[in-house]
Amino acid sequence: MRFPVDLHTHTIASDHAYSTIEECIHRASVNKLIMFATTDHGPALSDAPHLWHFHNLRVIPRVVDNVCVLRGVEANIMSEGGLDLEEQSLKRLDIVLAGFHPCTPPKDLVKNTELMLGVIKSGLVDVISHPGAPNYPIDYEAVLECAKQEGVAMEINSSSDVNTRLGSHENCVKVAALCKKIGTTISLGTDAHVSFFMGNFAESEKVLAEAGVSDEQIINTSAQKVLRFLEGRGHAPITEMHEFLGS
Ligand SMILES: [Zn+2]
Ligand SMILES: [Zn+2]
Repeated sequence: MRFPVDLHTHTIASDHAYSTIEECIHRASVNKLIMFATTDHGPALSDAPHLWHFHNLRVIPRVVDNVCVLRGVEANIMSEGGLDLEEQSLKRLDIVLAGFHPCTPPKDLVKNTELMLGVIKSGLVDVISHPGAPNYPIDYEAVLECAKQEGVAMEINSSSDVNTRLGSHENCVKVAALCKKIGTTISLGTDAHVSFFMGNFAESEKVLAEAGVSDEQIINTSAQKVLRFLEGRGHAPITEMHEFLGS
């Protein structure tokens, strides 16, 4: 399997998503994923879970049915700068995604870029989610250069232009092509809002092919590669996953 890791998924903890964590784990196993990250929306989005959802993710077992479950969040980049969770909450998690959502009304390109650069430089974010969103124009070159310097990954989102954010495709190709030129790490996520979509990277694969990106630059080619990336960003090694993976 080319990409056995899905780093962006939602559960019913976000009301506009439809699967429980158990259904996600089951589907991940059926779809032959070795690892996925559960990344519900940060509390600032209107139908997102309460902060305690993120604090209590530790009750989810590390490995279930031969699937590694990363405890994560898709935080919101806020209008006033920064994210909608404090550092001490983010530090408890295995992976932090961040992106623009409706709780932050779109600004102009200069302001959107400034907000995004701020969170990339904060050191608190591992992956920028759906940077190709047409509603939130950003200076791709400035963002990707900064992400490269800070070791932050840019996401090529497999729901964009398929389930949501219509009109993303061309932007995503631009982002992927610039990631290739600049050497920015790429993360893939299906952004599944129902378990059946987990591991469906069809749109991402189209984007990557058009941009001519090689798999070397993409962390989702193995669970071990994802763990190395996260540990390189300062997250504690997850012993149970290393034991399961034999790494
Ligand atoms: Zn999102
Ligand atoms: Zn999402």
